[in-house]
Amino acid sequence: MPLFDFDCPFHGRFELLLKEAPKGKRSCPTCKARSPLMAPLTVMHPDKLWAGHMTEHGYVTSKSQLVRAEKVKGVTHLSNRHEVEGMKKVAADARKEKEEKSRRNLRKAFDDTFAGSGVLDSFGHLRPESIKEDDASEQSLSISAKVN
Ligand SMILES: [Zn+2]
Repeated sequence: MPLFDFDCPFHGRFELLLKEAPKGKRSCPTCKARSPLMAPLTVMHPDKLWAGHMTEHGYVTSKSQLVRAEKVKGVTHLSNRHEVEGMKKVAADARKEKEEKSRRNLRKAFDDTFAGSGVLDSFGHLRPESIKEDDASEQSLSISAKVN
């Protein structure tokens, strides 16, 4: 049962345990004077962090303080499905771009090494006859395996 505060005009503040919020005044237990309800001090806190909490961003005593601390550290909260999917798409694009770049670099290294050496044809593919040669075949095969 909640505790309610009343203000007697003669004796000041007194408390009563009541099942529900009272409508109107209550009698003072000392003098029976009709006394109005007061705003209870115990519920006058700004938010659920008001009592002080240790968070991963330090000690905070309000929600707004936590929000400020997170802003300083660049923390982003993903609140809905669209934001989560957006972040996944950005990550997937970055991964794809990285793989593409690595493929280009390998291709370039391959071309730089073998172009004009007679190992590659005009399309940049390995010549079949170059694979048959005993000397270069081992090396060429291992490189073509990497490219594929
Ligand atoms: Zn009284």
